[in-house]
Amino acid sequence: MNLDSENKGSILLVDDIPENLQLLSDLLVKLGYNVRSVTSGRMALKTVKVKRPDVILLDIKMPEMDGYQVCQALKADENLRSIPVIFISALDDVFDKVTAFKSGGIDYITKPFQIEEVVARLDNQLIIQRQQRLLEQEIATRRETQEVLYQSRALLASVLNSSLDGIAAMQAIRAPETGNIEDFRCLVVNPVIARAFATSREEMIGKLVLKRFLSRVEPELFEKFVEVVETSEPLERDFYYSSGESSWFHFVAVKLGDGFAITIRDITMRKETELALQDANQKLEQLANLDALTQVANRRCFNDRLTREWQKQEHLSLILFDLDSFKLYNDYYGHLAGDDCLLKIAQIVHQIIRHHDVERPTDLVARYGGEEFAVLLPKTDLEGAIRVATRIREQVHSLAIPHIKSGVKDIVTVSLGICSLIPSLEVKPDSIIANADQALYHAKEQGRDRYCIAE
Ligand code: GH3
Ligand code: MG
Ligand code: MG
Repeated sequence: MNLDSENKGSILLVDDIPENLQLLSDLLVKLGYNVRSVTSGRMALKTVKVKRPDVILLDIKMPEMDGYQVCQALKADENLRSIPVIFISALDDVFDKVTAFKSGGIDYITKPFQIEEVVARLDNQLIIQRQQRLLEQEIATRRETQEVLYQSRALLASVLNSSLDGIAAMQAIRAPETGNIEDFRCLVVNPVIARAFATSREEMIGKLVLKRFLSRVEPELFEKFVEVVETSEPLERDFYYSSGESSWFHFVAVKLGDGFAITIRDITMRKETELALQDANQKLEQLANLDALTQVANRRCFNDRLTREWQKQEHLSLILFDLDSFKLYNDYYGHLAGDDCLLKIAQIVHQIIRHHDVERPTDLVARYGGEEFAVLLPKTDLEGAIRVATRIREQVHSLAIPHIKSGVKDIVTVSLGICSLIPSLEVKPDSIIANADQALYHAKEQGRDRYCIAE
């Protein structure tokens, strides 16, 4: 099949005189049209239903059914109405142009015709037809697009309205001279956000509300949002803002056009759990480092601190002290009284190192075991350590806990061993303990209720 003829359009010729048909048909076929011919109106009406032509060339004077009647029948049929009909009439026919147009004809040609005129008129109709078809296609495409658009809008609206997260879209407002972002305009806001700000969506949409809001809450955040737009780097953060029952929010801001989209989640519950957990963990850690009876640090804590201070290689002093004749105390006053005595002494020493002349938060008193305590004094030389040891001995005296079985005094006393040094990494931290212990042993040996200094 000739593709050109296919493209040029298909023509239906209707004329009761076969010779007329033959002549015109031959000419048009030669020019590349696709041509069908029939010799009566009735046949014409039948064939158009089988295969629809692009244009009909219709003779007027025919027996049985003339051209006007054929044309009226076509126009009465909804499916065929749009096929253009060009009338052909011989000059000697009684040809009424008004009737031709009234019955639905679109154009007419008089016989004898010039083939150029026929072609020109045919092409006219074919072009109009083609344009009409394109227009119809475009209308159909537009309808489809509109439908898709409508559906995606409906989807978006339902997502926005049903989302448990706050969702908003912001558009940058730039200064005309500099192009710098000065504020953001709210393009989209869902009900969750409106509720969080105790306002309506209408109050927010189209408004410049962000900068004003942030200036009251966290002004630095404005520049961060500007950065999101300028660098395309998303921004994700927890954010404190007290609003009704809620106080903690998590948000993610992502660049969108010349602005950003933001989703905001209420994490108040999670955050409260998190903070409570942190609190509990802190307490737990304190407990893990605390001696239950005396409420001062335990040996584990002391070891950790000693290891840490040992790294610093600066003056470090340790005092080990032990209650004198404490076995006898327990035997005479009872174990519970012994416990109470340990608590009192631990607390008085705790007070001393908290409040002695220079404020030293790194000083530590710990229960080393049994009735023996360790006092770690970072950045403290021997002189300072002696001062602390003296104070401990005096303060224990001033507690004046009766101990008639002591053999040293009639009150509870302590013996202390002091070691002061500058740690070196070649020596283990244990050495300072061993030295202080040695000094403590000497203090006991020399009669108790005194301090001795490690050699
Ligand atoms: P010294 O003067 O040589 O230190 O004599 P001491 O009796 O104090 O020393 P020893 O090591 O012989 O006895 C320590 C006593 O401390 C034994 C024990 O009953 C008592 N003790 C240790 N831990 C506790 C405790 O947690 N509570 C009570 N109540 N007593 C304790
Ligand atoms: Mg003792
Ligand atoms: Mg002891």
